[in-house]
Formats: sequence, structure tokens, C-alpha cells
Amino acid sequence: MDLPNVAQTTIAISGSTARFTVRRIYCVGQNYADHAREMGSNPDREKPFFFTKPADAVVAGGSAIPYPSRTSDLHHEVELVIALSGGGGNVSVHQAEALIFGYAVGIDLTRRDLQAEAKKTGRPWDLAKGFDRSAPIGDLAPGIPPRSGRISLTVDDVPKQQADLTDMVWNVAEIIAELSTYVELRPGDLIFTGTPAGVGPIQPGEIVRGELEGAPAIEIRLVES
Ligand code: MN
Repeated sequence: MDLPNVAQTTIAISGSTARFTVRRIYCVGQNYADHAREMGSNPDREKPFFFTKPADAVVAGGSAIPYPSRTSDLHHEVELVIALSGGGGNVSVHQAEALIFGYAVGIDLTRRDLQAEAKKTGRPWDLAKGFDRSAPIGDLAPGIPPRSGRISLTVDDVPKQQADLTDMVWNVAEIIAELSTYVELRPGDLIFTGTPAGVGPIQPGEIVRGELEGAPAIEIRLVES
């Protein structure tokens, strides 16, 4: 009986031939006030909340992504993604940045119709957020992400999302500290840190491009499934 040979998910590192092995993917919900408002929530500084995606949902830039099953409302969400090389539980805000290996621009692909149904019925978000190829991520830039700088997304060169990292309700160190009170963080963990306003649907044939100051851009193309 042959055991299956299961590959680990890795991400390219800018300026290096080494690759970053992904352990888990955590995501923050609603971390920009204007996006919280567009989703019908109160943008006051409530504690950040978290959800996850499977590690093998990662896809690299340049990929063609088949339109996912079971949705007719696939949305883009451009986000700063943090990659950890350190870990721990109950990490202090002061210690948090020491855990960071690097950062990238990612797109939190979302089956918005399934998410809306889950919200309405009080059921889990898992399959609205954590499906195959739902986590396109650009090459990692080593180092601590900038505290300010532009983050943006275009669909077929039309601007859809644009914000500054200073618009984040919870900063990177605060997110790491809060998340580490729920789970022990480990090397290889990724954190999507939330999206600004302007999320919307994408269709087969469209090219989605995410940009973040200091990190390589990511471009993906949706194709018919
Ligand atoms: Mn998101």
C-alpha cells in the first residue's frame, strides 16, 4: 500500500531562491473602517475577529484561477499578508514584530453569496472563505511591513480598491498579539490583515492585480471553470 505523497505549500521569497513553507493561514475580518461600513458593520474599534483558510489554498502570482464552484458572487479583497518566522502564545504588542519574517500582498477571495447566507443563518464561514485557490499571495518581501504606504487593487486596469496602511484599525503588532491569545502562533503562519473598501465581484476573463508598497505585485487571471 503506497502512502500518498503530500506536498507542502511554499511561497517564493523576493531576491532569494529559498522558499517560505506555509503552516497555517489566519485572516482578520473588517480591519478598515470604510470596509466595515460597506459590509454593514460598526467600524468602531471592536476587537479584531479571525477566520482561517487551509494552507494549500495559496496560489502564486501569474496563476490562472478557475471560477470556483458553488458561487455566483466571487469577490476580491486585497490585503497586506504577514509571514511569521517566530511564534508563541500571548505575545505582547511590544514583542510582536520580532515574529515577522516578511510580508506580501494577497487577495482574500471570497464566495460573498455563501458568506452572506452563513451570516444570515449563523452558520460557519469556512467554505465561503477557505476553498481551493482562495488565497493568491505575491512573493514575500523579507522584513517588517511599512506602517504607511499604498495598498490597491485593479480589475482589468480599473481601480477598485485603494487605501493606505495607516487606515488599518488594528496594526500588525496588535493583530499578532490578539491572535496569539487564541492560538499559539508558529513559524510558517500567514496572517491576512483585512481589506479596505471597494470589494466587488470578479468574472472569468478578468485580470486582478494587487499592489502594496514595498512588496512585489500580484496578478491573477480568472478563467472559466
Ligand atoms: Mn478579507
